[in-house]
Amino acid sequence: MASTSGAGKLTLSDTVRTRFAPSPTGYPHVGNIRSALFAWLFARHHNGVFILRVEDTDVERSVEGSLEYILEGLRWLGMDWDEGPGVGGNYGPYVQSQRLHLYQDAARRLVESGHAYYCYCSPERLEALRAEQIKRKMPPGYDRHCRNLTDEQRKAKEAEGITPVVRFKTPLAGKTRFHDEIWGDVVFENSHIEDLVLLKSDGYPTYHLANVVDDHAMEISHVLRAEEYISSAPLHLMTYEALGYTPPKFAHLPMVLGHDRSKLSKRHGATSVLEFREQGYLPEAMLNFLALLGWSLDDKTDVITRDELIKNFSLERVSKTAAIFNHEKLKWMNGVYIRKLTPEAFAQMCVPFLEGAFHENIPSMDYVLEVLPLVQERAKLLTEVPELTHYFFSDQLNYDAKLLISKDMTAESTRKALAVAKERLEKLPGFDAQTLEAMLRPLAEELKLKTGQLFGALRTAVSGETATPPLFQMMAVLGRERCLIRIQEAIDKLAAL
Ligand code: GLU
Repeated sequence: MASTSGAGKLTLSDTVRTRFAPSPTGYPHVGNIRSALFAWLFARHHNGVFILRVEDTDVERSVEGSLEYILEGLRWLGMDWDEGPGVGGNYGPYVQSQRLHLYQDAARRLVESGHAYYCYCSPERLEALRAEQIKRKMPPGYDRHCRNLTDEQRKAKEAEGITPVVRFKTPLAGKTRFHDEIWGDVVFENSHIEDLVLLKSDGYPTYHLANVVDDHAMEISHVLRAEEYISSAPLHLMTYEALGYTPPKFAHLPMVLGHDRSKLSKRHGATSVLEFREQGYLPEAMLNFLALLGWSLDDKTDVITRDELIKNFSLERVSKTAAIFNHEKLKWMNGVYIRKLTPEAFAQMCVPFLEGAFHENIPSMDYVLEVLPLVQERAKLLTEVPELTHYFFSDQLNYDAKLLISKDMTAESTRKALAVAKERLEKLPGFDAQTLEAMLRPLAEELKLKTGQLFGALRTAVSGETATPPLFQMMAVLGRERCLIRIQEAIDKLAAL
């Protein structure tokens, strides 16, 4: 895809190309998915391209199966990628372990141009160095032991059979500056930047080298990523320069913290988007909520549809302040989205949860469609729906008989009231909400009860609960037969008190 440049000519370089570059080291953490979402929204807003690239070069940290979970999380949220695994594209392969020769070539070029060097230090030496630095209360870091090896010294090391790593030769003085789209001008002292490893001795690149090589090779225009990577940006910029590449624009996104302002972790509740799916969150609610972790439309609007997010997303409104992940707000938002669903869509989404709880006790989809609108207003999570509707699907009510007895009533007066109600319900010509109401309201008066007293007893009798959807509607859906059996059971329970 390309857009029109000032001269009216289509150029590829004008196209916004963003990427999400997950490492398959675990489940799809909401912090990472928030970064992915911002990159996706930015690309979609600009009619650009959103790329998925798998950064799997840290073999030790890779976790089997985690890539599939990450992709599943993105799919669930409807964050589609234009290039990447399963989709292809002109810049592939999109899996770094399949691109090793590119990083090895880049490393060789950097050494040849004097921007990087081979380092033969053994892990033991580095460990001892580290221990010494810690002991002396010095900042740990590589002491540049191999930075100025002569050709002979290098040959000698190679003759010993040591395979070197490649380290970047960071300038010892000066500053590295760059403009961050969110943080503005950022300056780092070069003397604070270590000679980091770019290529490991097994031929695998480190994150830094692979990231730079690929962001260039894939013509990424904007790198949107978490704030924790801002300290890597100077090394990346120096690497771009050393390789003769124009760097992309950078936007480092604010951190996502728990309610106590510490790094968001399991301690705060669910952190994987797939866990939220299991807990009964809707993808639309989750997407909306994640978009507000560091971005805002106008400081007051919370509920924003996917299309509005795409239309309005801009880096100007991304904040520098860490975002707090508020589980309560997410739950509230989920309730909002549940209420916005059509009854049919709500029912569809609830079916897996109902099936999990009630199995073969679900008579038909038509019945489900009668039941669910009664609780749609109250449900904040899809997982709450079985609990809110159990008495529509199961006849095991297991409630305390005392709950049948309303204020200022006794077991005996309740039993009598229910017995009369049952008799009348048996004879009622219809069993719809209107007919029920037209009979039961005057009945309360006839029995010299407040409506609340009679209705409360009936409510508990037919549902086993004290808080339910409107009584007449609930009874109509339950049907005459079920209601009569349950009222008789309530009468028997009261008699046994
Ligand atoms: N692989 C890195 C991660 O998983 C990507 C960081 C970046 O976007 O540059 O966080």
